Amino acid sequence: MNLVLLGPPGSGKGTLAKLLSSQLNIPHISTGDILREEAESGTSLGKKVKPFMEKGELVPDQTILEVMKERIRSSECQKGFLLDGFPRNFHQALELDDMLKNSTKSIDMVIKFDVSDDCVLKRLGGRLICSGCGADFNRYTKPPQKDLMCDFCGSQLYQRPDDAQEVILNRLKVYKEQAMPVEKYYNNQGKLRRINAELDPSLILKNVLNILQSKKE
Ligand code: AMP
Repeated sequence: MNLVLLGPPGSGKGTLAKLLSSQLNIPHISTGDILREEAESGTSLGKKVKPFMEKGELVPDQTILEVMKERIRSSECQKGFLLDGFPRNFHQALELDDMLKNSTKSIDMVIKFDVSDDCVLKRLGGRLICSGCGADFNRYTKPPQKDLMCDFCGSQLYQRPDDAQEVILNRLKVYKEQAMPVEKYYNNQGKLRRINAELDPSLILKNVLNILQSKKE
């Protein structure tokens, strides 16, 4: 199955994608994770995209399309994939269809994560990541036992640079401007399904699995 998860930053797509990926046994392709890894490793791609990411702007289409063409063609994606963070604008959606057409594939379903701006600000503004094991915490909803220290490995917790308040607001603005036409595009094809993304992740997973099941029937 070829799936796209659509939704603003902080809508919980990443968390759900990990759960869904192991349930469906298809790879979770997160463009944000791929680019962050490149930026942290200081590769030439990473150096190119870092300034855009730090401001909450989209990286140039040509750059992300090259990355995704290679991924979609890889053997890992032969049985299907779960896209998280791509396509992010109308042009990317058209290019994705083109990439898939070459291998006689298409997008089966697009799940849109509905969430309020307030909820996003709380989720991302409070998010803390462990510098050692990568575990997630949240100042408001899932605080660590000791301030800024990981409960699991004791390493220092940090805030992602793009989770700063002004960057979150810009990421939301960019999302709304760029992703609306993508939503419309898939809605017109009858592929878009909406879910309430403010619920508990286990409930969201259940709802998404129900939606996928109803498509099969
Ligand atoms: P995310 O974790 O999905 O919010 O992505 C973090 C950052 O990576 C975004 O703010 C963009 O700078 C960049 N990015 C991720 N996916 C894309 C994409 N499909 N097109 C352009 N830039 C992207």
